[in-house]
Amino acid sequence: MARKIIYFDYAATTPLDSLVLKAMMPYLKSAYGNPSSIHYLGQQALGAMEDARRKVSDFLECSSREIIFTGSATEADNLALIGLVEKFKEANPTSAPHVITSQIEHDAILETCKVLEKQGAEVTYLAVNKEGLIPIADIDQAIRKNTILVSIMYANNEIGTIQPIAEIGRLLKKKNDELKYKIYFHTDAVQAINYLDCNIDKLGVDLLTLSGHKIYGPKGIGALYVRRETPLDPIIFGGGQGFGLRSGTENVAGIVGLGAAIEQVKNNKVKAKNIQKFRDKIMKGILKTVPDVKLNGSVVHRLPNNINFSFKGAEGEAIVILLDQEGICASTGSACSAKSLVPSHVLLALGLSEEEAHTSLRLSIGKYTTNQEVNKLLSVLPKIVKKLRKISGEFPDIHQY
Ligand code: PLP
Repeated sequence: MARKIIYFDYAATTPLDSLVLKAMMPYLKSAYGNPSSIHYLGQQALGAMEDARRKVSDFLECSSREIIFTGSATEADNLALIGLVEKFKEANPTSAPHVITSQIEHDAILETCKVLEKQGAEVTYLAVNKEGLIPIADIDQAIRKNTILVSIMYANNEIGTIQPIAEIGRLLKKKNDELKYKIYFHTDAVQAINYLDCNIDKLGVDLLTLSGHKIYGPKGIGALYVRRETPLDPIIFGGGQGFGLRSGTENVAGIVGLGAAIEQVKNNKVKAKNIQKFRDKIMKGILKTVPDVKLNGSVVHRLPNNINFSFKGAEGEAIVILLDQEGICASTGSACSAKSLVPSHVLLALGLSEEEAHTSLRLSIGKYTTNQEVNKLLSVLPKIVKKLRKISGEFPDIHQY
């Protein structure tokens, strides 16, 4: 018998929307042409790919020529950062480029920045305040004469904090009038697409990353928005697909899936209200029934689908395992680091101790979450925390609540 799953891990990945699957099916089977081929099947694939590109550009309100499909959001992040820095180095071989980012970025950014540093770039990793927000003044102060790129995520994958991207965009526009080099602005919007305004002109970004599998689309497909005239070198070389920026035969079914998924998001933004109701019900329910709980990240500047708690005296990983035994999928933090015992860099950046960071649980909800599932979680989670605290001996007077 199939196991009944209650899914509270939408930030790790989302189920494939059935309309998306339907749109993809022909391109997994009969419409198998290579979009570079000039015959009928090739042109059919090319047409489907261009249609999907238009759906992405309609969503971002940009030109379809500005969309580059990649194999993941990780690749799109790499292309944005490495591509821009390499291009700058070619034009300015004697000066080191400076990049500004934050301490709470996804590893796709942080690990890429480490590589850039090894290759001679300077990188500033901005701290966040206790709420997980980057003060605008800190960005202003970090700007140097050789700053060429600011990369700040739109919404955080672990704590759901929303950064003031449009405000940062305005600051950089002002700065650019005074500086020798233009400072380009990249945002990793992977977690924001479902819920936030992603009009690239309102945000003032030059580069924006998105991913298929966080928006009810397939895995293994991402995209990078590249504003016209943004200097970028490819990081993958070959047949020159992707306007010369991303060689390799395109993942046509994945691209069609991404297009169908983003079209759904565009038509269904309203669902965020329902999702937020569930989020608030869980937050209130847990804060009311479980003592010594801390909500990590801003309450106000937060994605409508994210909850991140620290439960003093209960290991996050143990909570996830016990929830799993009840058929509930959740996570301790980012899915990419779920198997490592290193405490979350995001929670440490908020000022949590290593111990506190190890007691965290991320619950992320989505468009298929039901009230029944929320009620089940609210009945099970307090008992699990109580049980684990009893085992750890952190709360010997457990019977008092
Ligand atoms: N950036 C953020 C903020 C993410 O949450 C993720 C996925 O967890 C990624 C990048 C990487 O996306 P992908 O799995 O498409 O490489």
